Amino acid sequence: MEYISTRGGDSPIPSKKAILQGMARDGGLYVPSFFPSLGPNLFAGIPGGAYPQRAARILGAFLSDYGERDITAACEAAYGDHFDHPQIAPVKCLKGNLSVLELWHGPTLAFKDMALQIMPHLLAQALRAEGEGYEVVILVATSGDTGKAALEGFADVEGVRIFVFYPHEGVSEMQRLQMVTQRGKNVGVCAVRGNFDDAQTGVKKIFSDPDRNRQLAQSGFRLSSANSINWGRLVPQIAYYFSAYEGMVQSGILRRGDPILICVPTGNFGNILAAYYAHRCGLPVRRLICASNRNKVLADFIRTGIYDRRREFFKTESPSMDILISSNLERLLFELSGRDAGRVREWMNQLNGHGRYQLPPEGWAQLQSLFYGHFADGRDTRQAIQQVFTEEGYLLDPHTAVGYHVLQTYREETGDGSPALLTATASPFKFNRAVLEALGRLPDDGRDEFALLEEVARLTGEPIPEKLSELKSLPEIHGGICAQEEMFEVLGRFLRIH
Ligand SMILES: *Cc1c(COP(=O)(O)O)cnc(C)c1O
Repeated sequence: MEYISTRGGDSPIPSKKAILQGMARDGGLYVPSFFPSLGPNLFAGIPGGAYPQRAARILGAFLSDYGERDITAACEAAYGDHFDHPQIAPVKCLKGNLSVLELWHGPTLAFKDMALQIMPHLLAQALRAEGEGYEVVILVATSGDTGKAALEGFADVEGVRIFVFYPHEGVSEMQRLQMVTQRGKNVGVCAVRGNFDDAQTGVKKIFSDPDRNRQLAQSGFRLSSANSINWGRLVPQIAYYFSAYEGMVQSGILRRGDPILICVPTGNFGNILAAYYAHRCGLPVRRLICASNRNKVLADFIRTGIYDRRREFFKTESPSMDILISSNLERLLFELSGRDAGRVREWMNQLNGHGRYQLPPEGWAQLQSLFYGHFADGRDTRQAIQQVFTEEGYLLDPHTAVGYHVLQTYREETGDGSPALLTATASPFKFNRAVLEALGRLPDDGRDEFALLEEVARLTGEPIPEKLSELKSLPEIHGGICAQEEMFEVLGRFLRIH
């Protein structure tokens, strides 16, 4: 299968090149040239619901230039001991028509591990196949979660180095500890004075500076990025929707072929786009429910057909969804326009120039026939956490709680009682403070992160995940702080090129 750009300017390329390159040179995003039909016998012959083998079937259909052996090796390396659940992405049935897909059993306790545990293997294999003799340097600016997930995924992967910049005093203490204690012979981490935008701007400057890129190339390095517009991060996410559906069929919640609702708490439109792609490949879906927090640019887009980012930005208790420019939406626009790259270019130009664009009536109608969008504010989110904990004894993290609230709203508005799959994107342990606040259980010594973890453990009866409890005793390895102007200098010292 080949990959084409949503802006139409690049020639089709195989998946290895798309994953190495990240973004198309014309500024567009790579999408598969067609959607393979993944029929009901997709998982035939796989014993015991083994997740790595299920994932390999899906990845194999999209990454045809990789070869079965490499795909299987990557899936087995990624979806094994690093996860604290044997099913990797288990489905829990909360009540008759509501199942939760737990995507947070990976090393950083959030769903980005589902992709970032495997993408480094795909990237390393692509690199070997291209045989260019370069070592890839993954450069990341993070507001907290992506940095740690990328560090965990890329640590000790052959042929790849990773360096993460995070805003000094701009991440939570837990997130800082997660990053500065990261082990691995190919990893580097440094704080940048300023906020996330300063770190992000610094990274972008390095990416776009021809002199610095030449200097790196002379030393045998090539920069790359691990952010969510890379096809290598999207394709592993398609797999868990098929796997979850199969799990629901096998546990008798569904008859094969029954359509389901899929509700996804959304930020950059990556996770829900993967559900859409699964649907295009044959997964029976009645409606895709897009759940926003107060930064509800996507929910508004679905409800009005107008994308307008000119609005106030809110810091919420679901910070991983605090986004006003959802990059992956471009891939959906490409489909809504009937794969008309010219149209996509126009909309993106309008977004850049005027901060808004509007779908024509046919496109909007098409969008609404499959998608539903709504949002939850802080109060709705806290209420959802309380309600599900009281009624089901199940603790939602704030992101998943946003999804729960919007699913309820959808059911009230439409009367649709179809079976639903709610994607749980983070463990409640990871967002312990917001969860405890919602339940009115913040301990008196609320400043001590580890006291909060113990309280969540008491409430749920679950042990504190080892990846969080061990932070208390791990040495802090990466203590550097730099100014934005010094970032390249710091990177150079890490790579020993100065
Ligand atoms: C990244 C993230 C999201 C948003 O996912 P998108 O693919 O960007 O829509 C939701 N919840 C959590 C916990 C996340 O880390």
